[in-house]
Amino acid sequence: MASKNKLSLAIDLGGTSAKMALIDTEGAIHHRWSLPTDIRDQGRYIVSNLIQSIHEQLTILDLDLLDIKGIGMGTPGIVLADGSVKGAYNLNWATAFPVKESFNLSLPLPFYLTNDANAAALGEQWLGAGAGHQSLVMITLGTGIGGGIVSGGRLIEGSWGSAGEIGHLTIDTSRTYRCTCGKYGCLESVASATGLVNLLDHYAQESIVSSELLKDYRSGAMIDAKQIINAAKSGDLLALQIFDEFSHYLALACSHIANILNPELILIGGGVSMAGEFLIHAIKEKYLNYVYPPIKEQTQIALANLGNDAGLIGAAALVIRNN
Ligand code: ZN
Repeated sequence: MASKNKLSLAIDLGGTSAKMALIDTEGAIHHRWSLPTDIRDQGRYIVSNLIQSIHEQLTILDLDLLDIKGIGMGTPGIVLADGSVKGAYNLNWATAFPVKESFNLSLPLPFYLTNDANAAALGEQWLGAGAGHQSLVMITLGTGIGGGIVSGGRLIEGSWGSAGEIGHLTIDTSRTYRCTCGKYGCLESVASATGLVNLLDHYAQESIVSSELLKDYRSGAMIDAKQIINAAKSGDLLALQIFDEFSHYLALACSHIANILNPELILIGGGVSMAGEFLIHAIKEKYLNYVYPPIKEQTQIALANLGNDAGLIGAAALVIRNN
């Protein structure tokens, strides 16, 4: 294997599986694998399974720990200063789980940990749509909404590790969708894949527009975010109403981010960003009305482009930049 002494071990931990890879200092992925995430019993097996899998793969590849520069990992939840993780409900880590301590006890390698959205932001800034830029904010639109901030080439994690929780900005003060965090009116409750379905439930109640989407909804069909976006793209009136409000919330959030941080870029990634330029165009149009006028020509909004690899690439960047 090339660059034998320079490989970083990257982990992108998720609620259903963990993606893992060996990545060199240029960001090239040499080997990748994944394993299911076992969240039983308060997620107590997750870290030991990761460690076992690392040992197995290194044996298969005829590598030992001396060939590895360090381990970088992105995780759901909030990463505390001591390297424990809490609030990762999809892993069943509601209270603090000692992730870094567990790795340190089993693997004598430098270990770096950050929130998964932070890792994605770092990945995009290194090799993705943010390459060549020193400051960007990444918004990942999936079932929920994650956020990561890079400024001056460094992650901004906040005094307690909770910086960039863009999904939980209270942005809808009129309606009452409850967020997974327990609060009402979070950006996540109106501008994620879940948010699109929430808006459909709202608009479909009293809508009188002529709409295929509405007919499907009223016939009891299960409708997901992708179907709403595709209906909007094809001009369905109800879907366009929903999409208009959805993009309004994202534009509002982007304007607040731009006003506070004035980054070079705000990147939109995650599954919902498959809507592509159709989505970026809708956000930009409203953003220009909301943002502080001198910033209009400065902070740009664009699509992220590393897709599912952003977190892995960012996890490797954590190792490389700290060594
Ligand atoms: Zn929330």
